[in-house]
Amino acid sequence: MKKMKRSGKPFTTFFHSIRFRLVLWFTAILAIVLFAFSSFIYLSQTRDIRGDALYRLDRKSVSIAAALSSSGTPTLTLQELDIFVLLSANGKVVASRGVVSDKDVVALVKNAQQASVQSGEGGSQSYISWIEERGDSHTHYMFIAKPIPNGVIILGNPFDPYNLFNRLTVTLLIGSLLTLAVAIGGGLWLADRAMRPVQTITQAAREISDTDLSRRLNLKSKNELGELADTFDGMVARLQSAFERQRQFVADASHELRTPLTIVNLEASRALASRRTGPEYERALNVIRSENEFMSHLVNDLLTLARMDSGQMAMDKNLLDLSDVALDAIERLEPLAERIHVTLEAGDLPETILSGDRQYLLQMLSNLIENGIKYTSGKDRRVKVETGQTDDEAWVRVSDNGVGIPEESLPHLFDRFYRVDKVRTRNDEEEQASGSGLGLSIVHWIAQAHGGKVNVESKVGEGTTFEVRFKTS
Ligand code: ADP
Repeated sequence: MKKMKRSGKPFTTFFHSIRFRLVLWFTAILAIVLFAFSSFIYLSQTRDIRGDALYRLDRKSVSIAAALSSSGTPTLTLQELDIFVLLSANGKVVASRGVVSDKDVVALVKNAQQASVQSGEGGSQSYISWIEERGDSHTHYMFIAKPIPNGVIILGNPFDPYNLFNRLTVTLLIGSLLTLAVAIGGGLWLADRAMRPVQTITQAAREISDTDLSRRLNLKSKNELGELADTFDGMVARLQSAFERQRQFVADASHELRTPLTIVNLEASRALASRRTGPEYERALNVIRSENEFMSHLVNDLLTLARMDSGQMAMDKNLLDLSDVALDAIERLEPLAERIHVTLEAGDLPETILSGDRQYLLQMLSNLIENGIKYTSGKDRRVKVETGQTDDEAWVRVSDNGVGIPEESLPHLFDRFYRVDKVRTRNDEEEQASGSGLGLSIVHWIAQAHGGKVNVESKVGEGTTFEVRFKTS
């Protein structure tokens, strides 16, 4: 059973293939064209042959009429296969000649009279033509009825003595069938050639698996299929880098979580190893709490980024005042700034109207201000927030007089898990919230989702300014 199925499959596949359909359509259209063409040839040939035959009959009837009036007999002008009937003025058969029986003569007269009535031209010359089967030979005859002064001549002639019609039909049929056969063969060959790159693409696509995304089709052709292959290659390249990023992201995330987990484990084991004093337990618990804070922060950021990546973050955009959002963020972070003795200043905050999602913009500004607070140094430490608007842009600026960022780090600042100085930002003496390197990635995503762009200016030892500009028109 199985064997039968397998052998039947390529057959079914062929009938469902584009190749087959292309050839089928092509052949069907060609068959219609050939049929129309052959019919046209056949009809025009018929018309020409009939016209010729009628003309010859007419000429002959004229000479018969002349012969009748001069010698009283048409014999000389008549040929072997001609049929001749002479009717008197009152419709009686006066004479008949040719391969025609009495019964046929009666039918001929009837037809002639009928045709004469149909032509509707009274006594004037009227033509009739019809084709009649004659005995076994099936010779087709054409007749005309021509009025003469004292009666009517009915004259018939084989319509197609050389069997031209049959020969024409056979020629057209054979020609059409041969053309169709060549078209089917050629069509299959052409369709096969045209579809070969598709087979290459299919084969390669089959071979490209999740683990081998490095393969490319590299189809060099410049036609539509080449374009398809290029698009496919581009898509695989994007997939590959997305997978790569994902892998890196998971590796970085687990790495980031491993350090605090190890610290928590170590601190707890050390505290439990022997009896400790109160302050020693307090210190251990503080370390554990700080690491816990770091981990919840990290997990929250990871969750946010994962949602952003999967497109699950629904934006609820409304017209809002960016300076309001800035004031909210300042209010939220004031306690943190106070705790580590940083002055958080609200600079110029004029009304700055923008269409955006308040929650996201608040998160973006909070991340920037929090960084400003975290990465300040020395005495008189300040972070300033300003907003403003031009004709087609709204902007918000967060500047600090902190440690600054080295120039070589600026291009990587928005990369996930990127930190300028990993040692400095973890567990420093002042117990400030240590960073995971995800905050600016989130800022970048939110700015982009609002059609904005983040610019950074920084000088080591002098400070940093982050500016986000949004298009408003
Ligand atoms: P983190 O959570 O570590 O702060 P971010 O993505 O917010 O991560 O920032 C990435 C890195 O950029 C930080 O580790 C820090 O080194 C640097 N950075 C960000 N903001 C500032 C700033 N205002 N001043 C100096 N360095 C900064």
